[in-house]
Amino acid sequence: MDPLKALADAERTPYWLDNPARPEPLPRLVGHTAADLVVVGGGFSGLWTALMAKERDPSREVVLLEGRRIGWAASGRNGGFCLATLTHGLANGLERWPDEIDRIERMGARNLDEIERTIRRHGIDCSFERTGELIVATEQWQLDALHEHLDIVGELGLDHVPLDRAQVRAQLDSPTYLGGVWDRGGCAMLDPARLAWGLRDACVRLGVRVHERSPVRALDDDGTAITLRTPHGSVTGARVALGTGVFPPLLRRLKHYLVPVYDYALMTEPLSDAQLAEIGWRNRQGVADGANQFHYYRLTDDNRILWGGYDAVYYNGGLVKREYEQRDETFVKLAGHFFETFPQLDGLRFTHRWGGLIDTCSRFSAFYGQAHGGRLAYAVGYTGNGVGATRFGANVMLDLLSGERTERTELRMVREKPVPFPPEPVRSGVIQFTRWSIARADERQGKRNLWLRTLDRMGLGFDS
Ligand SMILES: Cc1cc2nc3c(=O)[nH]c(=O)nc-3n(C[C@H](O)[C@H](O)[C@H](O)COP(=O)(O)OP(=O)(O)OC[C@H]3O[C@@H](n4cnc5c(N)ncnc54)[C@H](O)[C@@H]3O)c2cc1C
Repeated sequence: MDPLKALADAERTPYWLDNPARPEPLPRLVGHTAADLVVVGGGFSGLWTALMAKERDPSREVVLLEGRRIGWAASGRNGGFCLATLTHGLANGLERWPDEIDRIERMGARNLDEIERTIRRHGIDCSFERTGELIVATEQWQLDALHEHLDIVGELGLDHVPLDRAQVRAQLDSPTYLGGVWDRGGCAMLDPARLAWGLRDACVRLGVRVHERSPVRALDDDGTAITLRTPHGSVTGARVALGTGVFPPLLRRLKHYLVPVYDYALMTEPLSDAQLAEIGWRNRQGVADGANQFHYYRLTDDNRILWGGYDAVYYNGGLVKREYEQRDETFVKLAGHFFETFPQLDGLRFTHRWGGLIDTCSRFSAFYGQAHGGRLAYAVGYTGNGVGATRFGANVMLDLLSGERTERTELRMVREKPVPFPPEPVRSGVIQFTRWSIARADERQGKRNLWLRTLDRMGLGFDS
C-alpha cells in the first residue's frame, strides 16, 4: 500500500495521550511550602520515586512538581514495552558489567515482578500483559548475533526460547523473518499513559502533594535544605530527587552526559479478526528486530499495531523543538517498512503519528548520583529503555538519599558514570557520523567500520 495513503488521516499526536480518560491537571504550586522530599518530574521516574517514598515511610511529607502535565513527555508516548533489563539489553550489560550481570539481571526481573504487583495492588488499569518479547532476525548476521548469548542466557536462568524460521513465523507471520528468540519472562506490554495517570492517582491517595504545570526554574541550597522555585510558588525540601529526563537539568553537570534524541512511532487502526488471523500473533508478544536501527512493534488491547523506531534523530546543536515531534520523512519510511513486513495487511490505515524525546547517554542505560552534600539525587539517561527501569532508578535515588548502602547502591553500574559527550559543535559531528556508520553497518550485513569498532572498544556509542 502507498505509505502516503495509509498515513493520510493519521492524527499528529501521541495515541496514548489522545484518550478521553486523560485526567484534569492537578493544581499548580502556589505560595510556599515545605516537605521532607521534593520530587521534580512527573514522568515514570518521578512518579515511582514519590510513590515508593510514601510506601517506604508513610509519615514522610512528599511533594511532586511537574512542569507540564503528568506523563506528557516520554513516559506517556512510548512503545509501552516494560522490560526487565536494566542495561538496555543483556548484550550491553554483559559488555560493561560482566562481573555483576547476574545480580543486575536478578534485580531487573524482581523489578518487573514488583511493577506487576504494584499495578495490581493499586488497581491501575493500564492493560498490563506479561507477554514477553520476540526478537526477530531479518538478516543472517542478526540471527548469528541473537544466538551468540544463548549459552549465557541459560546460565543466568533466563527463559529465552530460540525459534527457527518456521517457529518464529508460527508466532507472528512475516515473510521477512529468518528466525528469532522469544524472551518469555523479561517483558510486559502496557498502556504507558494510563500507567502514568494510575501512578499519579496512587501517589495522591497515599498523600503525595502533586502539582502539575509547576516548572522548577531555580534551585537554592542554603546548606541544610534545598528550595525549589516555580513561577507561582516555592517548596523547601530536606531532600530532592530529580526525575527530569532529558530536559534542561537543574544540575548543570548532567548536560555533559545527556543528548536529546527523537524517536518516532505510528499507530494503526484496530485490526479485524480476519486481519489478525492473517498474521497470527496469538501470544501477543512485543516485537523488535535485531538491526542496529531496529523497529519495535506490538498489539494494543483493541488490536491496533504500534509500529516505531528505526530512525533515532539528533538535531544538530541538541535542539529541542515542538515541531520536531513530527517528521514526515520518518513516518513515510516507517509506514513503508510496515507493509514490507506485513504485506497481508495491505489497506490498513494509520490513525496516529508522533515523536518523542529520549535521554540518550553514551552507555545506553541510566546513571545515578548525588549532589548538594547528598541532599539531591538523580537518575537519568535511560536511552529509550525506561518504562520498567525507572522504577529501579527511583529505588536507587531513595537509597542514596537515605544514606544507606544497599544491594543496589553497591553495584558498579550504579556507582560509575558514562563517558561524557564532547561539547558542541564536535558533539553534533560525532553523533551524525556515528548515525551514518550505524546505518551503513545495517546495509553491509552488520559489518562495523573502523569508527564503530573504535567506539565499541572504548565502550561508547549511540543508540535509542
Ligand atoms: C517514542 C518513544 C518510544 C519509547 N519506547 C519505549 C519502550 O517501549 N520501552 C521503554 O522501556 N522505553 C521506551 N521509551 C523511553 C521511555 O519512555 C523513557 O525512558 C521513560 O519514560 C523516561 O521516564 P522519565 O520519567 O525519566 O522521563 P520523562 O517521561 O521525559 O519525564 C520527565 C518529566 O520531567 C519534567 N520536568 C523536567 N524538568 C522539569 C522542571 N525543571 N520542573 C518540573 N518538571 C520538569 C518534564 O516535564 C517531564 O514530564 C520510549 C521513548 C519514546 C520517546
